[in-house]
Amino acid sequence: LEALDKAHLWHPFTQMQGWQATRPLIIERAEGCYLYDLEGRRYLDGVSSLWVTTHGHRTPELDAAIRHQLDKVAHTTLLGLTHPPAIELAARLVQLAPSGLTRVFYSDSGSTAVEVAIKMAFQYWRQRSDPRPRKTKFIHLRESYHGDTVGAVSVGGIALFHDLYRPLLFETLTVPEPHCYRCPLKLERPGCGMACAEELGRILSEHADEIAAVIIEPVMMGAAGMLAQPDGYVRRVRELCTAYDVLLICDEVATGFGRTGWMFACEAEGVAPDLLCVAKGLTGGYLPLAATLTTEAIYAAFLGEAGEFKTFFHGHTYTGNPLACAVALANLDLFEQNRTLDHVRTVANHLALRLEELRTLPLVGDIRQRGLMVGIELVADRAARTPFPPDQLMGYRVTNRCRDYGVILRPLGNVVVLMPPLAISTAQIDELADVLKTVIPEVAQ
Ligand code: PMP
Repeated sequence: LEALDKAHLWHPFTQMQGWQATRPLIIERAEGCYLYDLEGRRYLDGVSSLWVTTHGHRTPELDAAIRHQLDKVAHTTLLGLTHPPAIELAARLVQLAPSGLTRVFYSDSGSTAVEVAIKMAFQYWRQRSDPRPRKTKFIHLRESYHGDTVGAVSVGGIALFHDLYRPLLFETLTVPEPHCYRCPLKLERPGCGMACAEELGRILSEHADEIAAVIIEPVMMGAAGMLAQPDGYVRRVRELCTAYDVLLICDEVATGFGRTGWMFACEAEGVAPDLLCVAKGLTGGYLPLAATLTTEAIYAAFLGEAGEFKTFFHGHTYTGNPLACAVALANLDLFEQNRTLDHVRTVANHLALRLEELRTLPLVGDIRQRGLMVGIELVADRAARTPFPPDQLMGYRVTNRCRDYGVILRPLGNVVVLMPPLAISTAQIDELADVLKTVIPEVAQ
């Protein structure tokens, strides 16, 4: 298998040297929070298999939901047809989402949920019945990651992807990301007065007639390096968008479905966006499914005077497929049955205590946590906050060593990411923390 993998399988994100250097781990099966390789070795899945596993692997209720749906229909399109799981899930999402989000558009990945939001926001300003400006531009946070399709890369900021695909991308306006450990404005909390948000206000005041939407990942930017936002940031962004009549897109692909201790992270700040993008945790890690939720006002811009639909050119073959919708419904049922949000808050508090023990270890510069979403930033010099040069692959050195100790983690540059299944127990959190406590000093030597 290893030889065939090498010969034929083109893995995603092939620029990541740290993975090229290691033997691929061939996962054969999983149970709860553990993965097992071909040789039967057990690994604690500390990143929920790319941030998706909610209730653990092989959850009986989720397995059963798929089997039950298989006995009815595995796939049928939403093009001119519909089916119970898609309908029931749309209604459930509306019920769970922040108020005002009443329409659900399905897609298949986080990137496409963002792509859909961009296209909806763009068309909204062109198609509205009143004659206000046709706004076409987007604002995003400078270091953001919203996916890898062309539109999602355009509203993202990761230099490597921008440099590669620049001629394909559309132009955007950017604002400094709220990142207090390495403030892009070189300011300090709390004296800064959240100048990063006020910078957004300044740009909006100058360009309000051009800006269609602002896109943010609320509360914590994930793939950008686990950058936790100061309290009140999301609320301020919402106030500014409302004041300047600009749409707010919240990308909750990573933060949604309980990850931060709230069903959706923007609830922590009492914020309701105009468009909400969700994916990853929606099916509990079982099948690809994503959704863009939006308001009645945006939906109305896609209806003509006689109620006829205006073209929204989006919709993929497997969009809203019955198996994925059925398992998503079962996943959401389990949130209630298992009181998952309460559980996340409890284990996140325990994790916070254990992370405190790591703060004084060599290499550890900053630890950023929101619920079960954590980044541990490794630094060459703690006092000066000096980053390791990328070619030292410091993040990989830590996560590869963790793998030797039976814990799977994933780095983002110099940041070690912890995104365990929401069902993780306190004992398993101890297992994870103990391994990090052993590994980080080993790597530092
Ligand atoms: N937005 C955010 C915030 C993400 O974290 C990701 C994936 N890491 C995406 C969008 C893209 O999602 P996908 O990989 O499912 O396309």
